[in-house]
Amino acid sequence: MACAAVAPLAAAAWPWNARAQAYSPLVEDLVIQQVPGAPIYFALGHPGVPSAANGGHTSNAGFVVTDAGVVVFDTLGTPSLGLALLRKIRAITDKPVKHVVLSHYHADHIYGLQAFRDETDANIVAHAKALDYTAAGNTDDEAGEPRLAQRREALAPWVNADTRIVLPGIVFRVAAEIRMGAHQFQLVYAGPAHSMSDLMMFVLPERVLFAGDIVQNGRIPFMASAAVNTLNWLAGLQEVASLQPAFIIPGHGKTATGAAEAISFTNTYIRFVRRAMGEAVAQWTEFDAAYKSTDWGPYKEMPAFGASNRGNAYRVFLEIEAETLAAGDATKTPQ
Ligand SMILES: [Zn+2]
Repeated sequence: MACAAVAPLAAAAWPWNARAQAYSPLVEDLVIQQVPGAPIYFALGHPGVPSAANGGHTSNAGFVVTDAGVVVFDTLGTPSLGLALLRKIRAITDKPVKHVVLSHYHADHIYGLQAFRDETDANIVAHAKALDYTAAGNTDDEAGEPRLAQRREALAPWVNADTRIVLPGIVFRVAAEIRMGAHQFQLVYAGPAHSMSDLMMFVLPERVLFAGDIVQNGRIPFMASAAVNTLNWLAGLQEVASLQPAFIIPGHGKTATGAAEAISFTNTYIRFVRRAMGEAVAQWTEFDAAYKSTDWGPYKEMPAFGASNRGNAYRVFLEIEAETLAAGDATKTPQ
């Protein structure tokens, strides 16, 4: 069946229903853009970290309208933003939302999920590691419950006592594929890299890649978590290149039409931090001294530098220390 254009629904006026009335209105309209010539849409967040000024709108999300229904990728950083995304989908198509795929379980990508859970029958799909997000044994700096407590303060009123973490209903470990109408969605596990549960979604036949936070542009990426593995992250960036996408929608920042352009910033930044901290570990320099003596150059002027860079450097310092110890152990292993 052809995808007929539909007029925006009258019911699109805020709010939709009793539950939606509890959501605080956005600070600004959610702007939806379209991949040229494709039934693929996206919203781009602001640079920097979630704050009252940006209403928590710092991450990107998107959706694909197929003949058989809609596939959504990520749900933005507050229930209000998630509901706004759903309203925009319903203004573009009357086809049901069938699948909501999460790039990874971090607050800025999943707090919109509850709107999709409450308003649609969609499957919620993520990597199996996402199930650990709220587990009692998860001591990661981005663990679900402590982060939610922090965001209820930092992002009130949009994140509040009624904000809840919705876990996936369908998970996979290595790779998965969704077929919908003439579309194919290849889900590729790329973690642990930025988080434990990173995945990318490659949309065929258009060759559009939703890269999640493996690709970030225009701000210092967040790497200050124990789950971060920068070697896997660099491998994930190479995977982006090997897929040869025609259009890339990153987890943060601007889109790109070529892999080289898309991965350049993240790739260069991770390598820069690894080189600086690698030298410090090799010379037995303490972290504080190494951090102070590093010339952070143009990165100092970028959004999220103040919030993320020192923590990023510290995590990479620990990671390279561990890599060095592991290499030392390997040389002691009897041949
Ligand atoms: Zn993110």
